[in-house]
Amino acid sequence: MNILVINCGSSSLKYQLINSDSEEVLAKGLVERIGIDGSQLTHTPAGKDKVVIKEDIPDHNKAVKLVIDALVDGSHGVIKSLSEIDAVGHRVVHGGEKFNKAVLVTDEVMKDIEELSSLAPLHNPANLIGIRSCQTNMPGTPNVAVFDTAFHQTMPEKAYMYGLPYEYYEKYKVRRYGFHGTSHDFVSKHAAELIGKDRKDLKIIVCHLGNGASVSAVQNGQCVDTSMGLTPLEGLIMGTRSGDMDPAIVDFICQKEGITAAEMNTVLNKKSGVYGLSNYASSDFRDLSELEESGNKYAKLALDTYCYRVAKYIGSYVAAMQGVDIIALTAGVGENNYRARRGICDYLGYLGVTVDDEKLKIRGEDLIVSTPDSKVTVMIVPTNEELAIAKQTVELV
Ligand code: AMP
Repeated sequence: MNILVINCGSSSLKYQLINSDSEEVLAKGLVERIGIDGSQLTHTPAGKDKVVIKEDIPDHNKAVKLVIDALVDGSHGVIKSLSEIDAVGHRVVHGGEKFNKAVLVTDEVMKDIEELSSLAPLHNPANLIGIRSCQTNMPGTPNVAVFDTAFHQTMPEKAYMYGLPYEYYEKYKVRRYGFHGTSHDFVSKHAAELIGKDRKDLKIIVCHLGNGASVSAVQNGQCVDTSMGLTPLEGLIMGTRSGDMDPAIVDFICQKEGITAAEMNTVLNKKSGVYGLSNYASSDFRDLSELEESGNKYAKLALDTYCYRVAKYIGSYVAAMQGVDIIALTAGVGENNYRARRGICDYLGYLGVTVDDEKLKIRGEDLIVSTPDSKVTVMIVPTNEELAIAKQTVELV
């Protein structure tokens, strides 16, 4: 089956057309600056040159239309007609407590996703627009919603409740949900396969270390804890997000700087993390690693603090599961950055972990980096959220 996977943001739309049988990516691309001056589509068909189409893209409807046109185009297209797209799989950020797995989109599902928008005001409305645009441009093609939160719905109450008045949970559903679920699910499953075991028999810690970053504890195939919370701000120090901190800092800084809570929220999401810690040098780990090597003390502080936080989360999940068999690193930093991998593994000796330093330098492939005598298997498992979405879409249609 050919599945179009769509990840819709407020002003962007990423897509991949995937043949789910061969797992081949037939084409992928990105529509940027939707509704803003300078909008464009970058379309990359497999085995052909990339094309950039610059034109006015006022809304997501137009964006989806352009994507479809590019896919069926005589020169840079990869299919002859729309009928070759069997279904569309959409990444939807927040499924709340309502969705613990992917679902076929119906009017009722659309209503539920809309109601959940209060929990993800930046993401769910954009995801809905993406689904509606596909319904308009591809009538009759089924749409599937795959939720970022779904995999974490197996967390027990003690892991997802905050130490807050219970009424906030009852009235507003304030609790921990977790994100990157599609990646944690895919990586934990694949990690078990790589050592020839079933995930149902293992305790696995997945560290999804990208621009956004989160850790999950997967015991007997189910998520039992994860580091992101009501929103993707909690947990690890990320590219530009603060992760865990004393909540009283919000009011303190608001008073000192004369800013509103909403403005502080923007600081915590966009100007914090390794970017803020490095004195705004960069949020990119390639830059930070180079800066550290050239003696920049802020870059070193950012990287040291980042690795320490990841190591503390790993330790807490070993405690939560009373042990660990596999620690898997994934996403941009986990798959590529030696400095962060080394910095994290340096904390794991107490678990009986030993790693091969040369293997820690290899990038972007499935790889066991621990030595054969290591008590815990440490591995790099490149994530593939698009393929995971395509597979879940196939299962439903
Ligand atoms: P993601 O959100 O998964 O795309 O990850 C983005 C992060 O991965 C950025 O901070 C990059 O610095 C990091 N990253 C991506 N590619 C590389 C690379 N080749 N070497 C080091 N870091 C990388």
